[in-house]
Amino acid sequence: MRLLIMGPQGVGKGTQAALISKNLGIPAISTGDIFRYNLKNETPLGLEAKAYIDKGLLVPDELTNKIVKDRLAKDDASNGWILDGYPRNDSQVAALDSILEELGTPLDHAIALNAERSVLMDRMKKRAEIEGRADDTPEIIAKRLDVYEHETAPLIDIYRKRGVLVEIDSTGGIESISEHILDALK
Ligand code: AMP
Repeated sequence: MRLLIMGPQGVGKGTQAALISKNLGIPAISTGDIFRYNLKNETPLGLEAKAYIDKGLLVPDELTNKIVKDRLAKDDASNGWILDGYPRNDSQVAALDSILEELGTPLDHAIALNAERSVLMDRMKKRAEIEGRADDTPEIIAKRLDVYEHETAPLIDIYRKRGVLVEIDSTGGIESISEHILDALK
């Protein structure tokens, strides 16, 4: 199965993507994780992306689209995948469409997770304490949520209109949210 998981920062995309990945036996691919890995290892890609990530801005599409294109062409992605954190704007939607057309593998579903802003802020504060992510400071969190609201949230409508959207309330426990998602995908 080929899936997107969408929703604001702190909604639990990474957690749910990992559970779905395990349950369906498909890789969870997070563009944020790929960037963080490259930052940590100070690769040319990491160095180029750093200025944007540190400010809570989107890394330029050209760079991001290429990463996704290369990753989806790998062997372990041939039976499906769940993409977390991509696409994030209109141009990335168009890029993903053409990547999938080239590979001849259409998208099955886009999962949209929703939660109240107060729940999101609480979860992100906790994550900042546990993981110590450099971009989890209050100012950068606010910037990332703004970017999400302006550029990424409108994309949910695109997938709704295409008839592939699955919307899930993400306020309960981790296991029950995961069950809801898996039920909805059946
Ligand atoms: P995330 O962990 O998904 O919140 O991503 C962390 C940061 O990586 C974001 O704030 C962006 O700077 C960058 N990033 C991740 N995914 C994308 C994407 N699809 N397009 C552009 N930048 C991205």
